[in-house]
Amino acid sequence: MPATQVALSHAEDLADFVAASPSSYHAAEEVARRLESVGFTRLNEADAWPTQSGGRFVVVRDGAAIGWVVPTDAAPTTPAQIFGAHTDSPGFKLKPKPTTGSRGWLQAGVEVYGGPLLNSWLDRELRLAGRLALADGRVVLADTGPLLRLPQLAVHLDRGVNNNGLALDKQNETQPVWGLGDPTEEDLLGELAASAGVDAADIRGFDAVVADSARGAVFGKDDAFFASGRLDDLASVHAGVMALAEASAGSAGGELRGIAVLAAFDHEELGSESRSGAAGPFLEDILARIYAGLGADATEQRRAFAASWHLSSDVGHSVHPNYAQKHDPAVQPLLGSGPILKINANQRYATDAIGAAAWARWCESAGIASQEFVSNNTVPCGSTIGPITATRLGIRTVDVGIPILSMHSARELAGVADLHALTRVAESFFAA
Ligand SMILES: [Zn+2]
Repeated sequence: MPATQVALSHAEDLADFVAASPSSYHAAEEVARRLESVGFTRLNEADAWPTQSGGRFVVVRDGAAIGWVVPTDAAPTTPAQIFGAHTDSPGFKLKPKPTTGSRGWLQAGVEVYGGPLLNSWLDRELRLAGRLALADGRVVLADTGPLLRLPQLAVHLDRGVNNNGLALDKQNETQPVWGLGDPTEEDLLGELAASAGVDAADIRGFDAVVADSARGAVFGKDDAFFASGRLDDLASVHAGVMALAEASAGSAGGELRGIAVLAAFDHEELGSESRSGAAGPFLEDILARIYAGLGADATEQRRAFAASWHLSSDVGHSVHPNYAQKHDPAVQPLLGSGPILKINANQRYATDAIGAAAWARWCESAGIASQEFVSNNTVPCGSTIGPITATRLGIRTVDVGIPILSMHSARELAGVADLHALTRVAESFFAA
């Protein structure tokens, strides 16, 4: 099916979003910036919040962001419609004392973050990006642009590689080069500081990751494909931002199903256990303050939660033509054929019969075809923020997403049509 013009412009906008989001801290800021640009008010968790009932707000906590729209007619028992996703992606994170190197090369000391496909990070121009905590208490974002590279050993020096496969030592063979010189006389943090317009001597702490610097691109027959870094899970975060902005435009007319919430968590790739991860209290804290603002008592908030929904969106596996046996023989979702509903008997995904029926309704009202995903019994599946949020808050949760190939590669592959379709379903999830 040829990509429509609207789906192509959606993919171009996603390329902008990913380019602006090399780290989870940048992604959270980009969520807030985009929502503020359409009228949302940014709140600080340490401040008192406005007490009027309706409104559009966004909060950033470290590398996570939550935005929401409270309809003007919201009551203490009005349910929440929560679209969940995550801002972080697998890759590498800068270690302390990061300026290393030998034999005339400058290198960066990095740790592996999450579960990247290590080989996919070779031979790409990479950025260093994240946040710097300064001596004066300020926290600034920094992004060097293309600076580093992990050069693969030439085939002449590794004759067996095409038959034996490539195994990288996670300490000795993953430290990227970023220049020529003497590491005792150079300072990688100086590059980060300069990119943020601050002095390296003022840095007191840093959280910086390595990110692919290539822009996302549409290609393939009929422009069906979109390749980019960090589609897991910025494709979902972007869909949620677009849908929430759309929902807020219609909120004045009371056209929402409830309180529309976008929850973009950090640290999913590590298991979500942090103050900005889905296993932490961030969403619970924000919901408690929203319902307190509506005058809800504890029972009314529980009534609202009992009627609320969480649509947990993350990427899933399309069937791969060279490895079709990795999927269930009967359930083979195909990239480009619509968003996926994720099902797992062992609750790695939170979807159940009630959730499947609700997902079908949201897809039908958006006019979107959907597919199912279930694992081959011999291939254990990953998990998502879905079961974690369902367990923490007791809110009914459905796990969904888009089918991709090359998950956790430095450059993943999605279908242009699916990216736009996910946004359309998210809009119908928010809107009545
Ligand atoms: Zn993910």
